[in-house]
Amino acid sequence: MSPFTPEQAKALKAWTLRYPKPQMGLVEALRDVQRSHGWVRPEDEAFIAELFDVPLDRVHAVAAFYPYFTLTPAGKHRVCVCRNLSCHRRGGDRMLEHLRKRLGVPEGEATPDGLFSYEAVECLGACDHAPAFSVGDELVGAASEELIDKVIEDLKAGKPVQQAPIVIGATGPESGRKLLTKHFGEPELHRLEVYRRFGGYSALEKASRMRPADITSEVKRSNLRGLGGAGFPTGMKWETVPPKSQRDEPHYLVANADESEPGCYKDRALMERNPHALIEGLAIAARAVEADALFIFIRGEYARQKRILEEAIEEARKAGAIAQDIFVMRGAGAYISGCDTALLETMEGRKAWPRQPPPFPTVSGVFGRPTVVNNVETLMMLPAILRDGGEAFAKIGPQGSGGTRVYSVSGDVERPGIYEFPMGAPLSGILAAAGGVRGGRRLKAILPGGASTPVLTAEEAAKARMDFDGLRSAGSSLGAGGLVVLDETADMVETLHIIERFLRHESCGQCAPCREGSGWVARILSRILEGNGIPEDLGNLSRISGNVAGRVICALGDSVGMAAKAMIEKFPEDFRRRIHA
Ligand code: SF4
Repeated sequence: MSPFTPEQAKALKAWTLRYPKPQMGLVEALRDVQRSHGWVRPEDEAFIAELFDVPLDRVHAVAAFYPYFTLTPAGKHRVCVCRNLSCHRRGGDRMLEHLRKRLGVPEGEATPDGLFSYEAVECLGACDHAPAFSVGDELVGAASEELIDKVIEDLKAGKPVQQAPIVIGATGPESGRKLLTKHFGEPELHRLEVYRRFGGYSALEKASRMRPADITSEVKRSNLRGLGGAGFPTGMKWETVPPKSQRDEPHYLVANADESEPGCYKDRALMERNPHALIEGLAIAARAVEADALFIFIRGEYARQKRILEEAIEEARKAGAIAQDIFVMRGAGAYISGCDTALLETMEGRKAWPRQPPPFPTVSGVFGRPTVVNNVETLMMLPAILRDGGEAFAKIGPQGSGGTRVYSVSGDVERPGIYEFPMGAPLSGILAAAGGVRGGRRLKAILPGGASTPVLTAEEAAKARMDFDGLRSAGSSLGAGGLVVLDETADMVETLHIIERFLRHESCGQCAPCREGSGWVARILSRILEGNGIPEDLGNLSRISGNVAGRVICALGDSVGMAAKAMIEKFPEDFRRRIHA
């Protein structure tokens, strides 16, 4: 007998027809199951396996892999509180303790009436709302004991959760050139009519009259580099796609909106405020790489942004602004899905294990098809490049890094928010635009590209320039542009523990150095924090972390080693004080 009502079974079946290949709907179907039953039961897995014509063990592996799914009953309303760095600095742990007392059950267990469960999560992509919390798929906002109590009472009374207003933050009034946030003050920018008022879709019209190779040449002239973290030149990446004249098969293009690095939330803000810029950028890129099927792969926590994007796509299609449909797909809470080759696996309805290139996705991506994966912000730069010309874009930044970039600023800072600056801007200028260190305290350190990028001391931060080469020479990385600011009260053992706990939690487990090394590092740090450190710990931490970087498939494993190495080398006193206390 089916574990689902006829309506539920019909809705699940619809996922097999939604995308170019049936299995691409598998993760979404499991999301429906989790929502309707509060967990994924063995009989649900069997039903999904049959529906999607895949082996049962594969469905079970997917359900067990992604944090969104639970294999035991969760409450009808799942309350998630972020415990990562920026939220920790603003009291996330206190909020979890409040939930534990308020609901009277251990983390992850449903209350006796089945209504609630709560859990700590590693990131909600909302560091500007720290400490961020969500209920079900919806981000609520910054947690306080009063707001949590109110939300619980509202839900008990059957009222919907009121989302706190989304505060996107300032956009750096003194930052000079702005390309993506220029019209953020316009409240209706997400509407086609308003976007068009500012020249929206004129770049796509221009691109439609250009040859694909000419679009790529213009983008190469612009020195646009991938803004998701890797920094690879965008035009050069496109050139690795085999042209249709050589490989006459469907080509895919994916906007990577699975922004999951703690400290980074700029894509969320960009998609919410200016969805048409992403749609226009996708359509321009599609012409350049001859893509037939276009996707936006968005992190599951961005429910509101997904709705805004879907409405904007519909509006653009109906108005004839774009010719193609754009498929929106969601992840299920795994950080590693944001790695391009892991993202391909999630799209194929598998657990997100990064692939070891070669072949690279542009040659063999989703189901072996040539697939270009570009970050949201990267794609959103394309209209400006086509409109003003690649050369003008290149001139905004230093040699080799064209244009501007948008930073997410969070942690111990007066005005968390997103700030757009030309590439190569001084880090100190971004910090000043965000109001400086909170409460007049002194700066201790900055993680310049997201929580897992190597730390900079206050002295290094004062000299750092924010572009790919500038930060590499400072011993760190521009990453995805998430600045996490730490003031003088930050304990770097605790900070590193939070980072390594996160990396251990998100390690997919396929490389032994990353799987085991992240666990060992997190356990040693945990022991030091409990007051049980031993003098050998520092040497062991350095040795273990040195054995991870460079011996793994993806950047997550490299971060395990690099984050620990930088923190121990730059703040040895914090570690010694804890160990010898
Ligand atoms: Fe998975 Fe870590 Fe290996 Fe990356 S480095 S593939 S996260 S085990």
